[in-house]
Amino acid sequence: MNDPALHIVMVGHVDHGKSTVIGRLLYSTHALPEGTIDKVKHIAKETGKPFEYAYLLDAFEEEQKQGITIDTTQLQFQSKKRDYVIIDAPGHSEFLKNMISGASNAEVAFLIVDASRGVEEQTKRHAYILHLLGIEKIYVLINKMDLVNYEQAQFEAVKAQVGDFLKTLNVTPSGYLPLSAYYGENLLSVSKEMPWYHGQSFIDTLDGIQPKDDLDQRPLRLPIQDVFKFDDQRIIAGRIEAGTLAKGDQVTIYPSGRQTEVAGFAHWAPKDAKTKATAGQSVGVLLKDEFFNQRGEIITKTAETQRPKVTTVLQTNLFWMGSAPLETGKTYRLKIATQQVAAKVLKILKVTDAGTLKAQAKPTNVQLNDVAEVVFQLEHPLVYDFFSQQPATGRFVIVDGYDVAGGGTVTEAYAGAEVPE
Ligand code: GDP
Repeated sequence: MNDPALHIVMVGHVDHGKSTVIGRLLYSTHALPEGTIDKVKHIAKETGKPFEYAYLLDAFEEEQKQGITIDTTQLQFQSKKRDYVIIDAPGHSEFLKNMISGASNAEVAFLIVDASRGVEEQTKRHAYILHLLGIEKIYVLINKMDLVNYEQAQFEAVKAQVGDFLKTLNVTPSGYLPLSAYYGENLLSVSKEMPWYHGQSFIDTLDGIQPKDDLDQRPLRLPIQDVFKFDDQRIIAGRIEAGTLAKGDQVTIYPSGRQTEVAGFAHWAPKDAKTKATAGQSVGVLLKDEFFNQRGEIITKTAETQRPKVTTVLQTNLFWMGSAPLETGKTYRLKIATQQVAAKVLKILKVTDAGTLKAQAKPTNVQLNDVAEVVFQLEHPLVYDFFSQQPATGRFVIVDGYDVAGGGTVTEAYAGAEVPE
């Protein structure tokens, strides 16, 4: 059980069985608190409703929510091999916001499709967002196989339909699994109902996934969260998003490009980070020279190969969730890691309806649930990377007022004059 936890996300059209899959998984791996199932069965009986595994999830999430306001739930379970964290959120829009803002940080996604219904609008939209966010490992769970008599022909037909759609997004799924979440078929062991299926059960598929844990090997990205002054020392606090940092390292601070050396770590740094800190750790860093650093700057190592990009004109691929449309000329707040900058919409290059995949000619605004290529003019230089190289500095969120109105990934940057028509 020493493997690190794998973060997974499950998406799918409403009613295709997401909650049942999760409820069943938690139940079958004994992850639910004692008595939950009896309680839920009792309530179902009292109200005259048939028992649903999905209710287990509701009950569990209710309990987790007591006392804290969160719009994401992290559901944990264990297999024989490792711990898993499933990212879930109560409602459709909370879920989208959570995905877009990267709070979920999932490495692997499962797209759930009802075998009797096939691809529907939200199937497309969710797949589009996974693609937009650069989640590379996507498995397709073809659920409710019991409703189609566990027939291979129907599985193949839905598989082809999903495959064709994903191909339009340039996504090649890592695998397709037939499942009956309600009856637990193909969940923890290979189903006898589907002898034509020669793949692994759901849990064995999960256990076979290789996590991407190479963040330590990437160039250092330490976004500054805060700077504290104690006596005459300045302590720079932040979370190492990628790479490692040690005393004596030569570092460069972006966007200014000023260089200095790591003098040491604050006494409250994690025990194992006193001399060297790794990705995922929150640290307090002491620098040899003090430049009045501030929140939003990003510390990297000085070597040429470690350099991030800096720009004032940013091209993005974004998903829009704002109730008011995004419009050319309007200014929003754009956030990448701890950086925040006023961003004016310079150009909307392309708008696609994420449900129908229809592209609009000469778009003037971006409506709710649309995906768009948008160019922003930034008020001051911003440090960024491409998502595939550095997820934490390659993903952004747009804030309108107090709400997350959109987000996505950085695709290009321009020196100004070369912005495309
Ligand atoms: P969600 O909206 O995607 O979370 O869907 P739910 O998990 O709430 O499931 C919607 C309905 O489909 C519920 O009535 C479930 O009992 C039912 N359902 C889910 N999985 C299966 C399955 O494998 N077989 C059958 N027959 N029904 C299922």
